[in-house]
Amino acid sequence: MRGALGGPRVLLRRLREVMAEPVSAQERLDKIVVLIAANMVAEVCSVYVLRVDSTLELYATEGLNRDAVHHTVMHADEGLVGLVASQASALNLSNAQAHPAFSYRPETGEEIYHSFLGVPILRAGNTLGVLVVQNRARRTYSEEEVEALQTTAMVLAEMIASGELSALAPPGAEPAARRSLHLKGTALADGIALGHVVLHEPRVVVTNFIADDIPNELKHLHAAVEGLRANLDELLEHGDVVEGGEHREVLEAYRMFAYDRGWFHKLEEAVMTGLTAEAAVERVQSDTRARMLRQTDPFLRERLHDLDDLANRLMRQLIGRDHAPTRESLPENAILVARSMGPAALLDYDRKRLRGLVLEEGGPHSHAAIVARALGVPTVGGVDNATGVVDPGDAVIVDGTAGDLHIRPLPDMEAAYAERVRLRARRQLQYQALRDKPCLTKDGEEVMLMINAGLSVDLPHIVDTGAAGIGLFRTELQFMVAPNFPRASEQYTLYRAVLDAAGDKPVTFRTLDIGGDKVLPYMRNIEEENPALGWRAIRLGLDRPALLRTQLRALLRAGAGRVLKIMFPMIATVEEFDRAKELVEHELTHLRRHGHKLPDQVEVGTMVEVPSLLYQLDELLEHADFLSVGSNDLVQFLYAADRGNPRVSARFDSLSAPVLRALRDIADKCREHGKPVTLCGELASQPLGALALVAIGYRALSLTPSAVGPVKAMLLDFDCRKTAAFLCPLIDKPTGGAPIRARLEKFAADSGLQV
Ligand code: PEP
Ligand code: MG
Repeated sequence: MRGALGGPRVLLRRLREVMAEPVSAQERLDKIVVLIAANMVAEVCSVYVLRVDSTLELYATEGLNRDAVHHTVMHADEGLVGLVASQASALNLSNAQAHPAFSYRPETGEEIYHSFLGVPILRAGNTLGVLVVQNRARRTYSEEEVEALQTTAMVLAEMIASGELSALAPPGAEPAARRSLHLKGTALADGIALGHVVLHEPRVVVTNFIADDIPNELKHLHAAVEGLRANLDELLEHGDVVEGGEHREVLEAYRMFAYDRGWFHKLEEAVMTGLTAEAAVERVQSDTRARMLRQTDPFLRERLHDLDDLANRLMRQLIGRDHAPTRESLPENAILVARSMGPAALLDYDRKRLRGLVLEEGGPHSHAAIVARALGVPTVGGVDNATGVVDPGDAVIVDGTAGDLHIRPLPDMEAAYAERVRLRARRQLQYQALRDKPCLTKDGEEVMLMINAGLSVDLPHIVDTGAAGIGLFRTELQFMVAPNFPRASEQYTLYRAVLDAAGDKPVTFRTLDIGGDKVLPYMRNIEEENPALGWRAIRLGLDRPALLRTQLRALLRAGAGRVLKIMFPMIATVEEFDRAKELVEHELTHLRRHGHKLPDQVEVGTMVEVPSLLYQLDELLEHADFLSVGSNDLVQFLYAADRGNPRVSARFDSLSAPVLRALRDIADKCREHGKPVTLCGELASQPLGALALVAIGYRALSLTPSAVGPVKAMLLDFDCRKTAAFLCPLIDKPTGGAPIRARLEKFAADSGLQV
């Protein structure tokens, strides 16, 4: 390396000594910049720290005017230093002043320096500051020098993250590393939780950055990489690939990277600069994360995610143990923060201590989200780099209703949320008081409120909500959270437990609704251009009837001696319904022939979620015993707008004339044919949606359990005739002006209804 005195290893060793000295934080920083400048034969070395107010402050310098320290403050995207911070990548210039981003600060006296090398001070992909060296002469710093400066920046990152520098700053200008953050994600499971961070996959805390013996560290690194490769080979060739919900393709990608020379070389290089093997992994991982956060191409992002995962695995290999928190070790008021999580892992945590969940990945249909909702754990998903910006034990607020995450909240924010939690608890008590009251509107209409369920953890909700039954039992959830296909006996056991828990109350089982956004990790994924419109639900069931038959048999056996209600998902034609119904008949005959006890009565119905059924209602109602409207799918298909795509899902309103006309037609036809109808989509779980549905003729709704209280409270104060008289003309003749939703909201407010 050109001119370096002793190279990066000597520098790191010196840095270690300085870190151990009992001096103030400022003195330590001052010594560090002198050391770096001397070691790199640079005339200038400066440290800029990112502050909570998104500015960069000069914290220490060797070479620039010392009076500028703590006085030079610039915007986070100003000048070359700002460019390094915002792009989180090194900038190496032989003539800095010619760069368009150069910004001149007279107080620093830097006009005489031409060459510039700036590297971001990164931790878990987040920029905490910028480290710069400058020289008078025009020169380009060598790759080794860039590498050495980046390694040094790691030591500074730990110093900033430790909070040591905070004492140097007035309030409002502290280093940003521990700032309070508000991140926006997707609301996955309703509720608010206040608690402290527990990382589902704890970061290995690297305490020893600086290698004593580099050949030994290299050996250590080689052994770990070998172990990692062997482990992946083994998993792919002999192991149960499904374990932990990992798909074969993901493991294949890991293996490819694990054998990638480039990746390995980067790790080796980092060790050669004097880092321990663990610190080298952390450095390479932090760079990967920084790139990932700035990458918009979904394919490349996914690959960077894979690399990040691989680094986690390698770190575990190096440390030689698994640090996952156990059921017993979970502290009180735990908020779990994870990249992603399998449903089984979530079920393993102690529910009493678990307050909330934060996921970097995972939309509303992710398996962890489904289980979190069933457990009533407030959850926010889709929070980029959540695991990178928190430290274990940090205070955090999860607002699973709005999709907000507040990390290290300020006291007034915390107080406001604590008040909301108290208010919710008070409201819950009010709802509980209504639990055993019949659900009658003010003008005497009875509305049957049932719950949606799908896992055994949902069953206590029948009793705690006082629901009239289970209007939709999503049987696919058992399949989605299991590591492999549930056997017939396991299906039977669940269905039996559901019927036992419901007692005299009705349960409607929906047969497997898989495909589309509901994927089974262990089932071969068939690539389709348009999975929502593809080979899913009953289409799959009819084409490959073995699975459906096994399920029907399990249901019929579980329903022995009771009334059993079965319905099919995604039926599009009467003929499909008839074929599915025939399978039920077939299984009944089979069981009868083998002397099994049969249900006292079997009712067979269908979901209405494909618009084609709207034009076959008369024929369908001749054949079906009941209907259940799946408004989630029906609305997405009516408007041709993917319910899972945030760009379009909120574009069209369910409370609009076309949707309400379709829903009213279904209710009217069912009444004409004397067949019961329920609505089990999300619309029924919103008090305003329920208000509209009852007004247009629905008398049975199936809701998310937590919605039963609010919807019931609203209905008890609700005048059905008056609301119908207000709403129906709006549906029949939508005039211009405010949308139906806004008008209904006003109507509800004027009528004193809580919606
Ligand atoms: C629906 O589509 O409205 C429905 C209830 O089914 P799922 O949400 O399970 O697709
Ligand atoms: Mg559906």
